[in-house]
Amino acid sequence: MTHISSDLHDLSVADLARLLRQRKVSAVETAQHFLSRIHQHPELGAFLDTQDTLTLAQAQAADARLAAGTGGSLEGVPVAHKDIFVTRGFAATAGSKMLKGYISPFDATVVDKLGAGAQGHGAGMVTLGKLNCDEFAMGSANENSHYGPVKNPWNPQCVPGGSSGGSAAAVAARLTPAATGTDTGGSIRQPASFCGVTGIKPTYGRVSRYGMVAFASSLDQAGPMARSAEDCALLLSAMCGPDLDRDATSLDVPAEDFSAHLNDDLAGLRIGVPAEFFGQGLAADVQAAVEAALKAYEALGAKLVPISLPRTELSIPVYYIIAPAEASSNLSRFDGVKFGFRADQYTDLNDMYLQTRAQGFGDEVKRRIMIGTYVLSHGYYDAYYLQAQKIRRMIADDFQQAFKVCDVIAGPVAPTVAWALGGHADPLADYLADIYTLPASLAGLPGMSLPVGLGAGQMPVGMQLIGNYLTESRLLNVAHRFQQATDWHTARPQGI
Ligand code: GLN
Repeated sequence: MTHISSDLHDLSVADLARLLRQRKVSAVETAQHFLSRIHQHPELGAFLDTQDTLTLAQAQAADARLAAGTGGSLEGVPVAHKDIFVTRGFAATAGSKMLKGYISPFDATVVDKLGAGAQGHGAGMVTLGKLNCDEFAMGSANENSHYGPVKNPWNPQCVPGGSSGGSAAAVAARLTPAATGTDTGGSIRQPASFCGVTGIKPTYGRVSRYGMVAFASSLDQAGPMARSAEDCALLLSAMCGPDLDRDATSLDVPAEDFSAHLNDDLAGLRIGVPAEFFGQGLAADVQAAVEAALKAYEALGAKLVPISLPRTELSIPVYYIIAPAEASSNLSRFDGVKFGFRADQYTDLNDMYLQTRAQGFGDEVKRRIMIGTYVLSHGYYDAYYLQAQKIRRMIADDFQQAFKVCDVIAGPVAPTVAWALGGHADPLADYLADIYTLPASLAGLPGMSLPVGLGAGQMPVGMQLIGNYLTESRLLNVAHRFQQATDWHTARPQGI
C-alpha cells in the first residue's frame, strides 16, 4: 500500500493510528512488519508466544473496519501483552512452568478493551504476541522467568528490569509500538526506567484486573508502556474504566480521555521532591539525571517543593510481607487439577499436589509462598501481617500530607541503572532496589516513569512522577511537556 514500511517501527502509536485511519498503510502490512522484527530478534528473549496466523487475521479484520470507517480509536495499531494477561488463542504462562501449555478460553478485560472487543467496542489494536516476565510477576530483573531471562536492548549483558521486562525490552527495541505491563510494586515503572521507555501505573482500581494472573490482589494494577507519554495516554484511555461485574475492586469512575490535557501549561505546578528519595544508596549518575530533569521542569515554570515521605524505608519490609501473604493465597489455586502443569509421577492425591507444586514453581515463587504462609500463620499474623497493614495505612497518610503542599511528586524510579545479568546473587538486593516504587504501590497511587537521561555505561535513567488518586491525566501532562521540551524519550539502543 505504501513505501514507508521500512520505518514503521519508528512511528509512534499516535502516528501509526493516523496513517492507518488515512489508509496510507494497512494493518496487515503493519502487523507483518512488526512480526518480522520480532522473529529477527529472538536473542532478546522478549516474546514467549507469537501466533502469526491469528495476528494477521486480526489485522485483516482491522483493515475491513478501517475501510468501512467503523474502526476503534487505535484500529490496526499493534500491541503486545505481558504474559500475565490471558489472551484468547495465545499461551498464558505468567512466566511459570506451572502454566506451561495453558491457553485461555477468554480475554482479560484489558486485552478485550484494547483489541476488537467482544461487543465490538474495543480500540481495535492487533495483538502481536505475549511478552516474557518474571514468574507470576515476582521479580525486579526478569531473571525469574521459567523461560529464560530477557536481555536489555541497550546492553545485552544487562537486565531489562522486571517484572515487565519483556514489555519494556520489546518497546525499546521497537518490536512493538506499545505493550501492556502490570505493576504490583514497580513492575511497570522500573523496567520502563531500565529500558528508556515511558510507562504508567494508574491508580489502583482504574484498570480492571479481570483476566490478569493474580500476584498480590490489593496491589496489582495494569498499565501501558510505550515510547512517550502521549502514546501511553492513548492506550490508557482505551484500557481503563469500570468493570464492576468482573472485578470487585474496579473503581466506578468513567474512562477518561487522557490525551485531552497533555498540553496544559506547567506554570505554577508544585513538584514535591521527597528528601528520602535522594539519600544514601542513590547512585550519583541517577541523581544527576533526575536533578537535571527537575531543573528542566523549573525552566518550564514548575516550582520545586521539598517534602518528606518519612516511612519510605519501611515500604520494603511492609511490601515484602503483604505481597507474599497475598501471593501465598492466590497461588494456592495451582494444584495440578485445574490449570496447566501436573507432575508425571505421584502416589496419591496429596502427593500429586506436593509434586506438582514442587516441580511447577520456581525458587522465588516458593520463597514467597513460604514467607506469605508464615506471616499469615497463627501466632505470627499479629506480629507481621497486621503490623504491616497498619504501616501501609501510615505510608498512604504520609502521601496525603505531602499532597497538601505539592501537585505531583518527583524522584528516581530506582537507585541505579540496569545491573548486569546475574549481578544480584542475593534476592534481598533486588528487594532493596524497589525502595522508590513501593510507597506509591502500597498507597494505591498512580505513578509513572519517563526517560530523563543516560547514566553509567550509557544506560537509561528514568524519573518517577507520583500523583494523587485519579490524577493520571495530570501526570501524563507533566511527562508530555517534558518530552516536548527534551528528547530523552527518543534516544534509542544502538544496533536495533
Ligand atoms: N519487584 C517487586 C516484586 O518482586 C515488584 C514486582 C511487581 O511489581 N510485579 O515483588
